[in-house]
Amino acid sequence: MGRPRLVLASANPDKVAEITEVLGGLVDLDPRPEGLPDVLEDGHTLEANARLKALAVCEATGRAAVADDTGLEVDALDGAPGVHSARFAGDDASYTDNLDRLLTELDGIPDGRRTARFKTVALVRYPDGREVMATGTVEGTIAGRPSGVGGFGYDPVFVPVEGDGRTFAEMGDEKHSLSHRGRAFRTLARHLAAG
Ligand code: IMP
Repeated sequence: MGRPRLVLASANPDKVAEITEVLGGLVDLDPRPEGLPDVLEDGHTLEANARLKALAVCEATGRAAVADDTGLEVDALDGAPGVHSARFAGDDASYTDNLDRLLTELDGIPDGRRTARFKTVALVRYPDGREVMATGTVEGTIAGRPSGVGGFGYDPVFVPVEGDGRTFAEMGDEKHSLSHRGRAFRTLARHLAAG
């Protein structure tokens, strides 16, 4: 069997770059076709939203499509922003708006209570209805202020427990060896290779 060939359902260039770095050697990836309408991500779980995105692109192209949905769960906020991570500060919030809101909500919370995790669900949907899914999680803490210029989203404040104290935004490509997305997509690639 040749390498799997998938259409990327994500239109987010930051995610596309990371997925391509993790999967690039294992799977042939084609970009999301231009002009497809945005998908309303109104599922209540990461899995539901990953499925909505993969299904929309699979139906539009007639080809196997791969999507991911990611959330940041902060224990001191009872798991928020979670599935709402992209819209934490409002519908059109930028990465900076969301990060500022997170730091404001955690203002005064001491270091020991700033635990959090990123979770990713990666999902492939085939035209015949089959699905292959994998999840990835990384535990960490939320720093008091942003550090680093790499990555995207909440990376400047996320310090993985298994790292050396740097935020994901201070790591460059090292992020993928520890990250939720790296883990989810490496597992997904193993599932795809196993048929
Ligand atoms: P989405 O719903 O999967 O597109 O992602 C939700 C939001 O989570 C994004 O808008 C980012 O703010 C954030 N996010 C997703 N992946 C990452 C990551 O790897 N690092 C930091 N933030 C992320």
